[in-house]
Amino acid sequence: ELSVGKSQENEPTITASYEDVGGLKNQLHRIREMIELPLRYPEVFERLGIDAPKGVLLHGPPGCGKTLIARIIAQETEANFFSVSGPEIVHKFYGESEAALRKVFEQASKKGPSIVFLDEIDAIAPRRDQVTGEVEKRVVAQLLALMDGLNKRNNVIVIAATNLPNALDPALRRPGRFDREIAIPIPDRHGRLAILEIHSRGMPLADDVDITQLADSSHGFVGADLEALCREAAMIALRRILPDINFTLEEIPSEQLLNLQVQMDDFLA
Ligand code: ATP
Repeated sequence: ELSVGKSQENEPTITASYEDVGGLKNQLHRIREMIELPLRYPEVFERLGIDAPKGVLLHGPPGCGKTLIARIIAQETEANFFSVSGPEIVHKFYGESEAALRKVFEQASKKGPSIVFLDEIDAIAPRRDQVTGEVEKRVVAQLLALMDGLNKRNNVIVIAATNLPNALDPALRRPGRFDREIAIPIPDRHGRLAILEIHSRGMPLADDVDITQLADSSHGFVGADLEALCREAAMIALRRILPDINFTLEEIPSEQLLNLQVQMDDFLA
């Protein structure tokens, strides 16, 4: 039995909602319309005699929220979420990638409504005129066949993510496959402010912390960077009150952990 590791059906491990996505209002709106509507009300599409989209391609630089959005959509629509890492399915399952892909689609169809998330799809589906290996070409063809094989009754929507949309095999971007594309861009000042607010939400902030000013001065930071910035700031604050700590948090003996808790409470009071 072939195990697909991470790509098996897995409950989204985060509990997040649309509120946890900073900026990207228009993008979220379009994605919800294209995915939530058909997953929740497939009969509406049937009744209207139109095909619901089978695939949506999210493209943009790393760390801007593609994966976050896919997971949240699955959670909000209560769809089963099947996550496939492109590089993993190609390298780890070399020679068996097609079978692994088939298995994911089979499971997803069986358990619809489902979302199949293909992260870094460029690794699975590079332009066939630019790859030399027969194996690579077969994987692209298999993915196309699987997409074509999905019908209304499967109740499966495929969300793919890539940083390199132009490296994809063009056949994939034709109608009936990934015919909807949404750019998930680097956030502007407003986006950065929204993201900073989300990631500092649970944090006690000193009076002189000015989030707006931080948003102004963090040009070029993507969501993942801003999240790291908040986390790092918290760690610096922690180190300041515990200057002599020279072990990692996991290694702190329990009685000291209690002590730490008391000091933290004092600090935060
Ligand atoms: P990659 O191409 O590397 O997979 P990605 O676009 O899928 O990147 P995510 O994995 O979704 O990026 O983002 C990483 C983390 O950064 C998220 O889990 C989230 O915490 C944070 N993040 C990114 N974008 C946003 C955003 N718009 N709002 C809030 N948090 C964000």
